[in-house]
Formats: sequence, C-alpha cells, structure tokens
Amino acid sequence: MARYTKAVCRQCRREGGKLFLKGEKCYTPKCPVDKRNYPPGEHGQGRKKVSEYGIQLREKQKVRKVYGVLEAQFRRYFRKAEQSRGVTGEILLQLLERRLDNVVHRMGAGASRAEARQLVRHGHFTVNGKKVDVPSYLVKQGDIVAVKPKFRDDARMKELQEFAKGRSFPEWLEVDVDNMAAKVLRYPNRENIDIPVEEHLIVELYSR
Ligand code: SF4
Repeated sequence: MARYTKAVCRQCRREGGKLFLKGEKCYTPKCPVDKRNYPPGEHGQGRKKVSEYGIQLREKQKVRKVYGVLEAQFRRYFRKAEQSRGVTGEILLQLLERRLDNVVHRMGAGASRAEARQLVRHGHFTVNGKKVDVPSYLVKQGDIVAVKPKFRDDARMKELQEFAKGRSFPEWLEVDVDNMAAKVLRYPNRENIDIPVEEHLIVELYSR
C-alpha cells in the first residue's frame, strides 16, 4: 500500500491547521503549526491566489489526511455516500467516522489514528468478541469494540488507558475505560464530528 513518507507535520502545515496526526505531540507547544503556521517549502510564505477548485481540493485533502485514507478509497466512500439517503457530505464523514481505526482512536486506545490503525492491523482488537484486523472495517450500531484481553496489560495500552481516564468521548460511543471497550450506540451525526471542514466543498469538487 502507498504510504506518506515525509514528515507528518508537513501535512498540517500544508492544510493550514492542526490535523492531529501525531497523538500527544499535537497538544504540546512542540506542534510545528503553532510555531510556523504557513505551508512548508521554499515558497511556503509566498502569497498565492487560490482558485475555487483549489479551495475545494484542499478541503478534500484535509479530510483525506485526517482519516489517513488514499484517494481511490476516499472516492469509494464518496460514491457510497452519494448512493445513500441523506446529505452526501454528512454521510461521507459518518462513513469515515465508522472506520474501526477511527473508533479505536476515539475510544482512546490509540493516541492518533495512525497508531490506532497499526494496533488494529496487529490484531489487538475484537468486534463483538471476534478478532478484526482490518482498519477500514465499518462498525455498526450495537457493535462492541474491545482491546483483546492479552493486550490489555501491555505497557503502551496501560499508558493510553491512563490518558483516556481524563478525557471525554463522543456521544455516539459508550466507552468503558477500565476494560478498554466501546459500544456503538448510534451513528454519529454532524455535530458529533469535530473535524473543522466544509464538506459541501468536497461534494462540489466531485460533482465537477
Ligand atoms: Fe499536526 Fe500534530 Fe504535527 Fe501539530 S504536532 S503539526 S497537529 S501532526
């Protein structure tokens, strides 16, 4: 699978805001967006006129980077959203939120989506008691996502558990921090998705 191999923080600087791709570092003064909030590279500080297409493209790239999804897969989510009932932009975000790696991150069992994805790939999670190691698995209402008992005592998981104790969780998930498990109460609506994005711009981009 294709991978982004440059410094991760460049992606945030390119999109002009925090995408929270690095876990704990994103909440510290070490975040490069706080220090240099302009695009990376030699011409990063040059003034540029951005076209309507450019604005729509950047919005799409931002969402793609937040969820760590490649272009072809992102388009598949969009097609699926288009074919579903409801507002396409909102359904698109809802599908991305329902990815197993995102749920693992949201329940605090991965400091970033990238870490959550790696832990899922390594088979450390179950859905309804069965091992699922596919990060793009879409959770359904009523599903229970949990850390495998064998992995619960792992030093990193203990660290994540401590971190999770002091935080709040999205309303659509019922999180049991002691057992590092989460139940999907319902699908998230737009208010539950705290990604600063204008999703209608993505719909406009793909409707060109
Ligand atoms: Fe983005 Fe986090 Fe890096 Fe800041 S520390 S630039 S939010 S990935």
